[in-house]
Formats: sequence, C-alpha cells, structure tokens
Amino acid sequence: MATDLYAELEQAIPAVREEFETLLHDLVEIPTVSMDPAHAADIQRGAQTAAAILQACGATVEIVETPGNPVLFGQLLVDPAYPTVAIYNHLDVQPANEPQWQQSPFVFHRDGERYLGRGTTDDKGPALTALLAARFAVQHGIPLNIQFIWELEEEIGSPHFAHFVQQRRQALTCNSVVISDTVWLSRTTPAVPYGLRGMMALLLRLETGSKDCHSGLTGGAARNPLGELSALIAHCYDARTGRVHIPGFYDAVRPLSDAELESFLASGFSLPDFMEAHGLHTLRTHDVRHVVQAIWSQPTFEVHGMSGGYQGPGVKTIVPHAAEAKISMRLVPDQDPERLFTVVREFIRQCNPDVEVQREGFLRPYLGDFSGFYGAAVREAVRFGFGKTPSFIREGGSIGAVVTLDEMLHVPIVFLGLSLPEHGYHAPNENFDWGQASGGMRAFVKYFDTLASTRV
Ligand SMILES: [Zn+2]
Repeated sequence: MATDLYAELEQAIPAVREEFETLLHDLVEIPTVSMDPAHAADIQRGAQTAAAILQACGATVEIVETPGNPVLFGQLLVDPAYPTVAIYNHLDVQPANEPQWQQSPFVFHRDGERYLGRGTTDDKGPALTALLAARFAVQHGIPLNIQFIWELEEEIGSPHFAHFVQQRRQALTCNSVVISDTVWLSRTTPAVPYGLRGMMALLLRLETGSKDCHSGLTGGAARNPLGELSALIAHCYDARTGRVHIPGFYDAVRPLSDAELESFLASGFSLPDFMEAHGLHTLRTHDVRHVVQAIWSQPTFEVHGMSGGYQGPGVKTIVPHAAEAKISMRLVPDQDPERLFTVVREFIRQCNPDVEVQREGFLRPYLGDFSGFYGAAVREAVRFGFGKTPSFIREGGSIGAVVTLDEMLHVPIVFLGLSLPEHGYHAPNENFDWGQASGGMRAFVKYFDTLASTRV
C-alpha cells in the first residue's frame, strides 16, 4: 500500500500543477493587506474566495468572525477515531508599496518555475501546497483528519486570534498543529524552527514646547526633545554591541543549552549568505557563534525611526518642540512582555520623567521541542520531500498565533515552512516556486502518513 501511495503521489503532483497555479493566481490577485483599513473589502473577498477553495477540496468550512478580521476554519473530517492534525497558514499580506516592484504586486505573474506577486510565498503558496497535499492524503485513505486554520491578521500581530480559538475550542480537536509560515536558511539548507522570538513595541514621545523655535534666540535655554530622546536611547542600550543596559532586562533569558548551540552551528548558516541576502555591509560581530545566538536566542533593543524637528534639505536652525522615537525589543524565552514593559517604563521614567511611553504590539516568545516524535516526523518529511535533512534552529521573528495555540490547545506544534530567503518575504518582487510547492506536497503527504501510521 505504501509503495502504491507514493507512486500515485509522484503522478498526482505534476497533474495538480495547473490547478495550484490557478488557485495561487486567484488568491494573489486579491490584495488582502491587513495593515491598511482601505483593504477591508479585499479581506472579506479573500475570505470568501479561500472558503470556496477549501470547499472545492472537500472540506467543510466556516468563516469565523472576530472583532477584527475573520479566521477561516476548514475541516476534512474522515473518522473521529483517527488522529487529527491542524495546519496553520495566513492569507493576509504585507503592503506592497516598494518602488522596486518590477510588475504590479497584485497581478499574478508566472516566470518559468517562479510565481511572482505579493503573498506568493508569505503565505498563500504554502497554504495551497498544504491544502492540495491534505486532499491527496484523505482521498488516498491516509487515516487522518485534517483541519485548516487560515488567519487574516498575522501581519498585524494576530490581535484577535485568541478570540477565534476561544469560539472554536470544542471543534479544535487536533492532537497536533503544523505551522507553515517560515523561511529556510538557503535553497540547499532546509530549516525547521522550534522557537520564535517575541516582541514588545513602544512609542516614546517628548514635548517641551508648543512650536519649533529659533536656536539663536532660544538655544542654550530651550530643551531639545530630539537630543533628550537620543540620550535616553543611549542609556537604554549600547548601539555598537547591542547590549541592553536596562536593569533586569536579561533576568528571565533562558540560557542556551550546549545541544542547541551545536545545532545552530551545524545548521549550515553562512555569514556571507546572510549578509548578502539582507544587503548588510558590516555587522556588530563577524563571529558566527555570536551571530547565530544574536539573531535566534538573544533579545534585542532596536530603534526603528525618530521624528521631530526639521527633516528637509540643508540645516534649519530650530530647536524642535517635540520628538518621537519608535522602539521595539525582540524577546526570547522566558521574557514576559507584560512584566518587562513595567521594568522598561520604570527605567525610562527614572532617566527622563517627561517622556511619554506608549505601548504598541506585544507578543510572547515561543519555545517548542525538537527532540520528540513530531520533530522526528518533520525531519523525515522534509528529507523525503526535498532529499535533504533539515537543520533545527530558532527563528528570530515572531508569529503571534503560535503562542496563542500553544497556550490554549496544549498540543505539540511543529513548523514545516517552505519559503526561501530569495523569495523575498515582506520585500519587493516576492515570489514562490514550483520546486518548493512540489517538494512541499511530498513532504506534507509524508508527514500526514507518519502521523496516521504511528501511535504516539
Ligand atoms: Zn507569514
């Protein structure tokens, strides 16, 4: 039976290519930008179209409303006696206003093996890959139930995802979850993350007057909010090393185990590739040991932007009356954003009591396990799908829904991502490719087969 299954899979994959491309075309051409309220109608249209796609694949589907954007909940339920796996993807996308787009970002474009357009790799292509693999698995008698969770607010930090899980807690009968929304280290180095950093974003504001004033008439006596915010930031961290000076900031950081560090170093992470992929000319450290820890297992303090005063050409000699700094911290296990916010706010108050601190997004960090049954199943699936053994790493980014699923469902969560660095996550000319889609279908079917055929 197993040989027949995989022989049939090899025939089925090329046979669904056209269908995959049509479905990806249909999803990509709906600009489901969750960050921009102007796209609210597109979000609704995206949900309707995706629901129709799930239904056409044999799933029952519900569009679950939340106070924000809806979440699609699809189910291929075969037999309650079978194990159930839930697959998480998101169908909202980043804005696509970068001037470097060579084609219109919301017009699907096929270029040989590549599929171009916003959302192709993050995360519409992986969602459809998993769906077509799931349909194959169920049609070919793999004894498994499969649920689909397709979110439409991932790119804004999943603010209402917990609302969805609460509402459908009874129906979410899955014994495990697969997240398909992560990036490999390179085309030849598949990566399976088992941890994600969390985040705490803040706006710092300081106002010292009602209008900008002449630096010859007032300079020396007037306070300068841009200068004071700069000084405050310099108190918070050493920009050259990245070391955060806020007392207590590192208290909850869980030390990296030797096994994890070894796994990081054996992952195939390449410093030149990393610098090239992100356009970095120079780094804080060129020691690979430090770099992998800095991006995967250490917290950060980052300044994203400062505004205030004069931003035009030349120098206009004013003393600004107000300034704003946009700050965020990536957090690692077991840093808790709520607790840390109090610590950071208190430190800022001591440094400069006039600075107003406004909370923006908060996400808790996540750490899973890569040594158990599910980790082994993913390793085997990736090896089968792509002919390469994946590296287990932590990922520096954040996926809000993962923490919610972990806290509310208490089931194992694994990551089976299909995106490559050159696919351009959140970047202009985003693309996905048939190699990752076809290998991904193979990997997903293998993963489903392992879950179904092995009792944990
Ligand atoms: Zn994503």
